[in-house]
Amino acid sequence: MGVSKRILITGGSGFLGSHLCERLLGAGHDVLCVDNYFTGRKENIRPLLGHPHFEVLRHDVTFPLYVEVDEIYNLACPASPIHYQHDPVQTTKTSVHGAINMLGLAKRIKAKILQASTSEVYGDPAVHPQTEDYWGNVNPIGPRACYDEGKRCAETLFFDYHRQHRLRIKVARIFNTYGPNMAVNDGRVVSNFIVQALRGQDITVYGKGDQTRSFCYVDDLVDGLVRLMEVTPDDFTGPVNLGNPREFTILELAEKIIAMLGSSSKIIHTPLPTDDPMQRKPDITLAKSALGWEPKVLLEDGLAPTVAFFRKVLGL
Ligand code: NAD
Ligand code: UDP
Ligand code: UDP
Repeated sequence: MGVSKRILITGGSGFLGSHLCERLLGAGHDVLCVDNYFTGRKENIRPLLGHPHFEVLRHDVTFPLYVEVDEIYNLACPASPIHYQHDPVQTTKTSVHGAINMLGLAKRIKAKILQASTSEVYGDPAVHPQTEDYWGNVNPIGPRACYDEGKRCAETLFFDYHRQHRLRIKVARIFNTYGPNMAVNDGRVVSNFIVQALRGQDITVYGKGDQTRSFCYVDDLVDGLVRLMEVTPDDFTGPVNLGNPREFTILELAEKIIAMLGSSSKIIHTPLPTDDPMQRKPDITLAKSALGWEPKVLLEDGLAPTVAFFRKVLGL
């Protein structure tokens, strides 16, 4: 075990944040979880509450925060389209004001800071698979813009604080990730399909289902985030893609989940949301060479514990 650090995780009671809290506590660090519980849930961190090195603070990152830590993982931001479009102005504020506050904090205390960015910065990509040097194809005024442009502006702020104030920054572009601790009402595709299949409800494929995504299991993703934060030399900033390069159509995902659960659910097609990207698959050459990272968990193997989690939560 290495040296114990004090680590702040914003969005720490959300899906990814809760796994990251657990992982860093397990490595012997002091973890401060900050969250406003907009999409995060106390149940996600309940198992950690008795841990002597775990602390929780209810706080909204759009307001300043004065704490003393060595590292910051900035994950605060709703990630599911239905939740980030519910209050789009707040979504942009969370990404932009949240980034400014956490960067100001990192500057004052000389902490290293990591931004949970997203494949959404590539928008509906014209380059496939997506490499980090692709600048993206984002509609700046559409319903997804609050999230996509908010995250793009956060990346801008990270690199300007790096160039202007010499901050030690890390930017991870996270592709679709799934696993236990997603909320039943999260609204993203993997949790929706599993919950619908378990309840015997219709599986809602938006559009024809020929759009593609690549799904990364949460343990792999968390491993990538920690490697990025801890990689030596310290001057590797990214942006770096973190995701699983195996690509599926949404229809294939629906069929896979129905077959896996032996579910009686039927697939129905509902309208494709505006600006829904048609394809998405990370090029992870950089993550492999700079971090020695690549995902290990196959979709089939990651779906099993995810299904078990939802069975338990739903009592089915
Ligand atoms: P999530 O919605 O489960 O977690 C986000 C957390 O941030 C929640 O606990 C929420 O309550 C909290 N939060 C939101 N606004 C806040 C605010 N103003 N102040 C404090 N806390 C706030 O989503 P997730 O999947 O765990 O995503 C975590 C991060 O990773 C997000 O920044 C997201 O954009 C990024 N990301 C996730 C994925 C993915 O597939 N899971 C993909 C790309 C990027
Ligand atoms: N900030 C914070 N915690 C700190 C230091 C700063 O939340 O410990 C916030 C504060 O709201 C500030 C913002 O970070 O406005 C940006 O800080 P910076 O020092 O870059 O600029 P300032 O606005 O102070 O000139
Ligand atoms: N999707 C779907 N049915 C659902 C939820 C999502 O067909 O119940 C589709 C959605 O249109 C998109 C893909 O699945 O093409 C991934 O959606 P998600 O919201 O999980 O994440 P995104 O990658 O779009 O941010």
